Amino acid sequence: MTFSLLFTSVISAVTETETDAPKIRLDFEGESFSTEQESKNLKTCSHNLTEIGKALQAYEKEHDDFPEWLSELHPKFLTNPNVLVCPADEDQGVPILPYDTDPNLPVSYNYDCDPEYYQRWMRNERNVYADANPIVRCPHHANRDSDSTLLSNLYLNLSFSNTIYLSEADWKKHPIKMYGGIEAAIAGYESALQRVPEDPNFFNLYSELIRLYVRAERGNDAESLIDNFKSIMKPHDEDIMRFRDYWTLVDMLRVVGKHQEALQLLQHLEKTEQKNPFRTSIFREIAMIHEEQGNAKLAKTYFLKADSRLEMIGKSAPNFSAIDIDGSPISLKDYHGKVVLLDFWATTCGPCIGEMPNVKKVYDAYKDVGFDVIGVNLDTDEADLHEFLKVCDLPWRQIFGGQDSPLKKLYRVRGIPSPWLMDKEGKVISYQARGAALKKMVAEAVKEKS
Ligand SMILES: [Zn+2]
Repeated sequence: MTFSLLFTSVISAVTETETDAPKIRLDFEGESFSTEQESKNLKTCSHNLTEIGKALQAYEKEHDDFPEWLSELHPKFLTNPNVLVCPADEDQGVPILPYDTDPNLPVSYNYDCDPEYYQRWMRNERNVYADANPIVRCPHHANRDSDSTLLSNLYLNLSFSNTIYLSEADWKKHPIKMYGGIEAAIAGYESALQRVPEDPNFFNLYSELIRLYVRAERGNDAESLIDNFKSIMKPHDEDIMRFRDYWTLVDMLRVVGKHQEALQLLQHLEKTEQKNPFRTSIFREIAMIHEEQGNAKLAKTYFLKADSRLEMIGKSAPNFSAIDIDGSPISLKDYHGKVVLLDFWATTCGPCIGEMPNVKKVYDAYKDVGFDVIGVNLDTDEADLHEFLKVCDLPWRQIFGGQDSPLKKLYRVRGIPSPWLMDKEGKVISYQARGAALKKMVAEAVKEKS
């Protein structure tokens, strides 16, 4: 049996009011969770983050910097090391693939303050967001519906200013949670923009701020923000990535309902940017506008232009013959009768590595009922792959393809991760088989008769 609980009532007992302790704001308003267990887990996790927040503050006070690993807080600043483990973490702080994990103690939390990274990037971000951005995150909570189906992964965040709030993976899209209310969020993002008005790394602030203005019914402010952005954007700069400035503008126009103006801009770009390697994103954006406006046929045409891999769904996957890293021949045909994941990845690809524990779990659960994985590694240097496999023992076969792998071309791989899932007859199920969707797709595909 599952039932919903409004979390606010459960959590209130945790709020700290000691005078010397850092002030903790717990904000779960409007969140509901499907099970009582999950609410309990969140309560414990919030308590853990509260303790970690206090310890980090004390550490920073003494060292004028943050520790490289959370375990360095123990024992001086954090007496109880169990606080570093979230009860919702199935691996209890010891991931099945020990990559970039805390070397000293089991730790469930995402934390990335190694001195170089903090000095180079995070300190800057911290200044821009005025301490409202997260320093420690728990990735082990989930938003499920009443049938316990996973809707999305939720993160419990501890901010630099010791606020604890829930968000989806992209915390930048949750300014109201970050700052604790819509007016505070507007003020927060306005001052953030004053600090970095022309830095393309922070153009997301424009997109989010205009959403806040629309929500607060501040139409005039939304209009002036668009004018403001038009005056500072530099899409014709040498740097080809600056082309993406248009995306911010298109997004802003759409948020205020100016779909026609956005469409005209995109159609102009379709003509002028014929040689731009990122032009597929123009097609995708045009497709989405057509879809929203009910032009299904045009939407489909543009979706196909944006991503030709769509055509391959349901069709036979291209066969290949290669040599795996142990020197044995391997081809897709060998896997006929099995559901197989062809996983293009590299050791330098953060999201690929982040997904590995999930692939390993699905592999362990379904390997005896007809599921297998083939890794296609796209590192520049094969030695990096072998180094990685020494630390993380992946039980499936690997092909070293390198950057110019013919397999990359065959499967139209433009970026990684690129996980292709094939059914027992070798037909493509998906080229985006990741996260919770991977398990669901594999579970269904192994049941089908070949
Ligand atoms: Zn947690």
